[in-house]
Amino acid sequence: MLPDRKMYGLLNRPQSKSGFKPLPVVIIGNGPSGICLSYLLSGYVPYLKRHSIHPHPILQRKLEEAPDISILDQSIEGSMITLSRGDWMGLPDLPFKDWLKQKRRGLRNNRATAEDIAQYYQHYVMKKGLQKNFSCDTVVTSVKKVSAESISNHAQKDLQESSDSLWTLNEKSTEVFQVDGFFKTVKGDEEPFSIYAENVVLATGTYDGPTWLGVKGENLSYVHHQLSALEEAVKNNIGIMSDPVLIVGAGLTAADAILFAHHCNIPVIHVFRRRVSDPGLIFNQLPKMMYPEYHKVHQMMKEQSAACAGPYECYISFPEHHVLSFGKDKKCIIQDKNGYQKAYKISMALVLTGSNPNLSFLPNNGMDLAMDSDQPVNPKRNPIDVDPFTYECTQEKGLYALGPLAGDNFVRFVQGGALAVASSLLKKANKNPP
Ligand SMILES: Cc1cc2nc3c(=O)[nH]c(=O)nc-3n(C[C@H](O)[C@H](O)[C@H](O)COP(=O)(O)OP(=O)(O)OC[C@H]3O[C@@H](n4cnc5c(N)ncnc54)[C@H](O)[C@@H]3O)c2cc1C
Repeated sequence: MLPDRKMYGLLNRPQSKSGFKPLPVVIIGNGPSGICLSYLLSGYVPYLKRHSIHPHPILQRKLEEAPDISILDQSIEGSMITLSRGDWMGLPDLPFKDWLKQKRRGLRNNRATAEDIAQYYQHYVMKKGLQKNFSCDTVVTSVKKVSAESISNHAQKDLQESSDSLWTLNEKSTEVFQVDGFFKTVKGDEEPFSIYAENVVLATGTYDGPTWLGVKGENLSYVHHQLSALEEAVKNNIGIMSDPVLIVGAGLTAADAILFAHHCNIPVIHVFRRRVSDPGLIFNQLPKMMYPEYHKVHQMMKEQSAACAGPYECYISFPEHHVLSFGKDKKCIIQDKNGYQKAYKISMALVLTGSNPNLSFLPNNGMDLAMDSDQPVNPKRNPIDVDPFTYECTQEKGLYALGPLAGDNFVRFVQGGALAVASSLLKKANKNPP
């Protein structure tokens, strides 16, 4: 995503002719983090709303001290990440509930479907006039710092002049980011592009690399790592008479797969490592009233194990088990904590044990940016190390990280990060007024 209406022109610009004019900022990612930052960089300036009360009293007091100063221009200590309010999945200045009302729909148990959320985000981009900032079907394959000197003479000239931009580039900048990638054309071809930017924001989320178990046969065609594979299979070849579907994992995505299979009367074998009463299990942390369907899955996990038959048909749970291997004959071997093994013939397997960010477009897969630079980036255990006031990477100036990459795992926290990045970028721009 690029904050410039000449985006397509810039991306398609013949490289040898007009050189490489660095953009002030490139945002990679089109989820809530990217959308929210795009909104703030597009001229929407957030102020404290009169008569509104923020749940955090200290933050409320600070905001009330300067109601006429934009929140972007205020210096609010780390607690700014709690600025988002209203609906948890909503973005600034368009409450999700209002959008849903327009569609003459309501929330069930205060919750929304994933489809509604996806539509709401698309609507948000249109409504706020942000489409021009987005380049769809575009994949970034490499981001690296290069010295300004290594860019062509044209680029040097562009760097210094850049007179048609609202943003003035830092004249002392000796390094810029080179961002490479490709567009997917309507015909399905890939058209490469290469652009330069003074700042890059990583808003690529953490769902692109499903976790693998690392067991034999996991690459066989009947073993999948995404829930959508089950939806596809139900459309095509799997049904009530099929061999069971093996579902591995005990998180909410695995629970969604179980609910979906249950709804379609497809037999399920459910394998997971923890005890059902393990306090770390997500089901033991969710309020029952708000999440009745997940509570139901938890009940099934408890009451319908291989050791004791329960009231639920087409489902068997295997707590404290793990998969040993997948065979070419669709036989899967599982093992319990005492080393006892069982083999099951299955129709397909879904390994739904979480996901990791795919930062393969960064040097060393972005590991050098993490809190612990010896380990891969992980949203919960090892997020990217950012300055809490600016969200700029501590290890790489000019590079920012947002959302789960920076440890903000819920949409309601994303807005605080976007505010911090926007504020930092605007301060940089104001240091070098046109
Ligand atoms: C099943 C599930 C349920 C959830 N439920 C909730 C909930 O109830 N409440 C809540 O607050 N949060 C929930 N979350 C978390 C929420 O989805 C995330 O916090 C949020 O999506 C993070 O937003 P983001 O913009 O940082 O990343 P994402 O939404 O992941 O968006 C990143 C985008 O960047 C794109 N991208 C990645 N790499 C590249 C590249 N190299 N080039 C170009 N584009 C790229 C990705 O394809 C993706 O479209 C849930 C998540 C899941 C998986």
